[in-house]
Amino acid sequence: MREMDEVFRALGRSRFRSRFQLSGKEADYLRQKGLETIIEHARDLVTKRLADACPANDGRQTPMRNHPVFVAQHATGTCCRKCLEKWHHIPRGRPLTETDISYVIEVLTRWLLAQKVAPPASGQEGLC
Ligand SMILES: [Zn+2]
Repeated sequence: MREMDEVFRALGRSRFRSRFQLSGKEADYLRQKGLETIIEHARDLVTKRLADACPANDGRQTPMRNHPVFVAQHATGTCCRKCLEKWHHIPRGRPLTETDISYVIEVLTRWLLAQKVAPPASGQEGLC
């Protein structure tokens, strides 16, 4: 596993990775659900789609949109086992450990927080 600051510096130098931003529907979803719930989804998605030694459809298991975690995964190179190996030095061909999964969640959390999607101000609900 790589040092996280180093990973984020490297991601920032990638034109493809640094293009991803949270906006529109995915940003709204994060705002509505709150970070904690989204992180629970992240744990679920990572476990189901990445944790096996050889996940089904590796390289194509993460859609480009429709969930803030999918966008975060492409932005951080945690979208498939090939990218996890390339960007995070987590080897392919073996199941992810609990430590690996927690690390991936930490990476996703850091990226989602950096998007500065404001939580709804309390007392201002009921707009719809
Ligand atoms: Zn990938």
